[in-house]
Amino acid sequence: MTFSGSNVLITGASKGIGAQIAKTLAGYGLKVWINYRSKPELADNLKNEIESSGGKAAVIKFDASVEEEFVAGLKAITESDGALSYLVNNAGITNDKLALRMSVGDFDSVIEANLKSCFIGCREALKIMGKQRFGSVVNIASIIGERGNMGQTNYAASKGGMIAMSKSFAYEGAPRNIRFNCVTPGFIKSDMTDELKPEAVESYLKNIPLARFGEANDVAEAVAFLLSNASSYITGEVLKVNGGLYM
Ligand code: NAP
Repeated sequence: MTFSGSNVLITGASKGIGAQIAKTLAGYGLKVWINYRSKPELADNLKNEIESSGGKAAVIKFDASVEEEFVAGLKAITESDGALSYLVNNAGITNDKLALRMSVGDFDSVIEANLKSCFIGCREALKIMGKQRFGSVVNIASIIGERGNMGQTNYAASKGGMIAMSKSFAYEGAPRNIRFNCVTPGFIKSDMTDELKPEAVESYLKNIPLARFGEANDVAEAVAFLLSNASSYITGEVLKVNGGLYM
């Protein structure tokens, strides 16, 4: 895959899927900006790991759901590099409860962290990339935003919202050669899935046609494709990375 751009910001990249996206994109030659909110040591370790493999990386702290912080972070990046070629809105949280027990505060916390942060990132990317007449944005939504899930009304609303919002941004970005797409992961191996009981793992696997949980790199390679020149005619699309669990 080739990339006409030079740098990328990944939100919430100090661990999990975001960290793997950073490693994979650095492997494709992009300078990666690793955003973290609360764990500088993880972000610094990742930067060192990428640099020791010959990649380019930098660390930037901000809370993606706070407008002033996100805007200031992007300003620092564009002042340093003179451009922002790509953005991956990956930062996200869950706060699961059955709807009958979910407070409006529980609902809002997930909408703020997942949907609002994504809106701020897409809007600011549109401004910066609009001037460049070039850019590509990938938003990490979820299979739950496509099919819903018990105990996740807030998370489903945030991720479904990201999908619809990305399509709207795709319309607004297209005249300026800026693409907006989503990746929707299914079950990806993570701290969360590592804690599942063997019986639960077995029952989940029965429903996944490819009969395995995904690896973070399965998501990262899909992101790389949607940022790269290989997908230059694709915008407003949703790329499922779920082993066939939801087709
Ligand atoms: P994770 O290990 O919990 O990592 C999430 C990252 O997001 C953390 O580094 C966290 O930082 C950061 N973050 C959260 N809110 C933030 C904010 N407001 N500003 C900046 N950073 C923030 O989760 P993951 O499994 O890698 O998930 C990554 C993304 O994939 C999420 O959007 C998730 O919804 C999506 N996804 C995951 C799966 C899965 O199976 N794992 C499936 C579908 C979709 P702190 O540690 O500082 O809070």
